[in-house]
Amino acid sequence: MALIIPEKELIIIKKHAAEIFPFEACGGLLGMISGEDRIVVVAHPAQNRYGKIAWDSFEIEPGDMLEMDKVSRRENLDILGFYHSHPNHPAIPSNFDINASWPFYSYVILSVKGKGINDVTDIRSYLFPDKNSQPVFEEIIFK
Ligand SMILES: [Zn+2]
Repeated sequence: MALIIPEKELIIIKKHAAEIFPFEACGGLLGMISGEDRIVVVAHPAQNRYGKIAWDSFEIEPGDMLEMDKVSRRENLDILGFYHSHPNHPAIPSNFDINASWPFYSYVILSVKGKGINDVTDIRSYLFPDKNSQPVFEEIIFK
């Protein structure tokens, strides 16, 4: 069971996190489920509804959610999950993340320390089967 992120989408996500630094970036991950794995096909950068938040709250703008929904239908993809950055913080879910999580979705967290793509120092994915238990680590395979 793994989340597969192609190189091209990985770069989109990293660039977004670095550009928005020192604020928190967020976006959607669209793709398909193949057996036990989730394959990301489109990374969709979005606006953070909370605006310029240094850390740690994010919510995707409703307009971006609609757009992702439209792209998913058109390309026959599913919304697999979401990514967001933790500027100057480790890629570990915050209490906010746990409380705002939904089961099913993959939550990718990027730790970012600056405005360069190489300043993204850690990327991890988590599943939150239920709010009363600990997040579950999900393996990421970069392709
Ligand atoms: Zn977070």
